Amino acid sequence: GGTIGILGGGQLGRMLSVAAARLGLKTHVFEPGANPPAGDVAHAVTTAEYDDATALEAFAASVDVITYEFENIPTAALDLLERHRPIRPGREALRVSQDRLTEKTFLSDLGLGVAPFAAVDSAEDMAQAIEMIGVPSILKTRRFGYDGKGQVRIDSRETAGSALDSLAGAPAILEGMVDFTSEISVIGARSSRGDVAAFDPGMNVHVGGILRTTTVPAPIPDSLRTDAVLLAGRILNALDYVGVMGVELFVTPAGLIVNEIAPRVHNSGHWTQNGCTVDQFEQHIRAVAGWPLGDGSRFADVQMENLIGDDVSKIPALAAEPDTALHLYGKAEARPGRKMGHVNRVQRDERAASG
Ligand code: ATP
Ligand code: MG
Ligand code: MG
Repeated sequence: GGTIGILGGGQLGRMLSVAAARLGLKTHVFEPGANPPAGDVAHAVTTAEYDDATALEAFAASVDVITYEFENIPTAALDLLERHRPIRPGREALRVSQDRLTEKTFLSDLGLGVAPFAAVDSAEDMAQAIEMIGVPSILKTRRFGYDGKGQVRIDSRETAGSALDSLAGAPAILEGMVDFTSEISVIGARSSRGDVAAFDPGMNVHVGGILRTTTVPAPIPDSLRTDAVLLAGRILNALDYVGVMGVELFVTPAGLIVNEIAPRVHNSGHWTQNGCTVDQFEQHIRAVAGWPLGDGSRFADVQMENLIGDDVSKIPALAAEPDTALHLYGKAEARPGRKMGHVNRVQRDERAASG
């Protein structure tokens, strides 16, 4: 037995709770928002703010280990929680990935390729950064961005000033635009013993800054697949990481460039639910619970497609499609850009079918 505390009750927390339940573990979710998707499946839910010390302490006391579904947890809350229970993945992974500047610096210090980047805190910084990096480039807030939010593309030097203004004074980073042939990601895992594993890299297609599809196998040479997995392993080991991590990569003619890392289960790993014996959610739960990692080898070709906003109207048709697994998050309201669920279209290995 045992109880896993999860910070964040969105769809990732929900799918982590399902995976934990399958292993006979309970989950207790901490989430400020009302009616969180994870609330339907978790054993307990605390609805409180991250500055509520009493609620945080009671939450910590009720669990054996604490994990999270998003990286932007306030530092003071983490400090308090960590006085009571272990947080996995650990604080270093959070420190590095909460801020794009820290993250890019960490990755480039590891010897990994990243886009040219510069910190931008003022109009003077902006002028210097554009001088150094040029256009096209992309200005991003250092913190709190997701699904392409807090980003603006700069195509000409004349628009650099207005780009900076649009971020309303938030600390930012300017990145050179990477001319990629495709985007892939590796979902890596590391156990508390230090064993490392990785799922087969998937190819990701984004529309409007939001992940649309992930396809496995990614149409890339085997050598690149190996590079991607080894690179993810280096990141996991450098952070003494415990849990699952998403590593987003650009494929370029000169090799792999790391876009960003996410210290948690990742949208581009949802295909594993129907393509592997042990999916990314169970793998994460195993790692944080101190279990050995499971078998994450891929037994089918899969395309994962996110259901975003109005895509919910396609659900009846999708439910009737052969070889298609529906995963719905139980969100009542389908707002534009909101992730409502996903489908995994599965093409089983011929050998499995005939064997
Ligand atoms: P996520 O939801 O994955 O956390 P995010 O808001 O953190 O997204 P990024 O991953 O930084 O955003 O960027 C979103 C997408 O924008 C990338 O997947 C890529 O398609 C494009 N992009 C971002 N930065 C660059 C870059 N430097 N060069 C080329 N394309 C980029
Ligand atoms: Mg991101
Ligand atoms: Mg991203």
